[in-house]
Amino acid sequence: MLSLDDLEPDHATSVSKHALQLMAELEVPATPPNFTVWFAYVLGRSAALRKTIDILRSNDRKFDKALNRELYNTFLKSTGSVGEVAQTISGELDAILVNVRNDVAGAIADSAAHSEELMEVGRTLRTANDPQLALKRLADELTRATERASALEAKLVEASGELGDLRKSLEQAELRSRTDALTGLANRGAMESFLRTAQINAMESGDSLSVFLIDVDHFKKFNDTYGHQLGDQVLRLVAKCLQEGIRDGDLAARYGGEELIGILPGAPLTITQEIAERVRTRIASANVKKRATGELIGQVTISAGVAQFKPGESFEALIERCDQALYRAKQSGRNCTIGSDD
Ligand code: GH3
Ligand code: MG
Ligand code: MG
Repeated sequence: MLSLDDLEPDHATSVSKHALQLMAELEVPATPPNFTVWFAYVLGRSAALRKTIDILRSNDRKFDKALNRELYNTFLKSTGSVGEVAQTISGELDAILVNVRNDVAGAIADSAAHSEELMEVGRTLRTANDPQLALKRLADELTRATERASALEAKLVEASGELGDLRKSLEQAELRSRTDALTGLANRGAMESFLRTAQINAMESGDSLSVFLIDVDHFKKFNDTYGHQLGDQVLRLVAKCLQEGIRDGDLAARYGGEELIGILPGAPLTITQEIAERVRTRIASANVKKRATGELIGQVTISAGVAQFKPGESFEALIERCDQALYRAKQSGRNCTIGSDD
C-alpha cells in the first residue's frame, strides 16, 4: 500500500529520518511494523492514521507494543483475507463454469446424436419389415436420453451446491474483514464507513445523529495487576454491555485499543447521554471474575464522551469533540459520562 519506492529518494530519506526521530522521541521500538506506522504518519497519506496518532499524542499516550501493534493492524496491515479469498473463489468459480460448460456441450452433442438416431428409427419404421425391432430401438434411445438428462441435472445440481459454498465463503470473509476479532464488534474500518454514511443520511433527512466514545478507566493498571488475558476478558465484557445497550440500527465498534464507540443514527445528544450512562452503570455493576479460578475482581469502570453531529461537520471533527468530552470525563474523576458542549 505504501512504499519507499513510490517517493523521490530525497523525500524518502527525509521522511524516514523524521519518522525515526519521532520514534526515538516517543520511545517507540524501531521494529519494521513500527517503522511502517511512523513512516506513514510522517508521510501523511492516511488522514485517519494521522488524526488517530495526533489524538493519542495530545493525550500523552505511551506508544507501547500493544498500541503500536494496534495502529499497524488497524491502518496498515493488508487485511488480505477478502482479497485472497476473492482470488481463490474466482479460480474455483472458473473451474465450476468450465465443468458446467463441458457438461452442457456434452449434453448438446448427445442430443444431436439422439435426434439423428430418432430419424434413423423413423426411416426404419417406414420401410420396416421388422417393426418390433424398430420400436425396441426407439424405446432404448428414449431410455438413454432420459438417463443423460438425469446425469446432466445431477451435475448441474452439484455445480449449484458448489456455487452456494463459494458464496458462503465470500460472505464469511467479508464479515471477518469488518469484525474485530477480540470483541466481535465492528472494527475500525467498518465503523468509519458506517459513520460516514450515517453523516450523509443525517444531513439528507435532517435527523439527529450522535456518537459516544468509551474508554476503560485505569486499564493499564488493570492489565499490570491482573494480566493482559484478564484485560482482554474485560474488554469483551465492555463490548457486550455496549452492544446490549444500543438498539438495532445503531453500531457498536472497537475504535482502537481499549476504546469502543457507539454510533446512534436518529438519536439526539440527551438520549445518547442516557444510553451511554446505561452502558456505564451496567459495566460498573458487573462482577468481573477470573475465569480460571472464579476469584472475584473489583469493579471495572469506564468513562464516556458524547457528541451530536452538526450538519456539515467532518468525521474527524465529530470524533475530536467526542474525544474532548471523554477527556473531560476523565478529568472529572472518571466513571462518568460527559456530553460535548461545543
Ligand atoms: P485512563 O483511565 O486515563 O484511560 O487510564 P488507562 O490506563 O486506561 O489509559 P492508557 O491509555 O494509559 O492505557 C490504555 C491501556 O489499554 C494500555 C494498553 O495496554 C491497554 N490496552 C489497549 N488495547 C488492549 C487490548 O486489546 N487488550 C488489553 N488487555 N489491553 C489493552
Ligand atoms: Mg485509552
Ligand atoms: Mg483507559
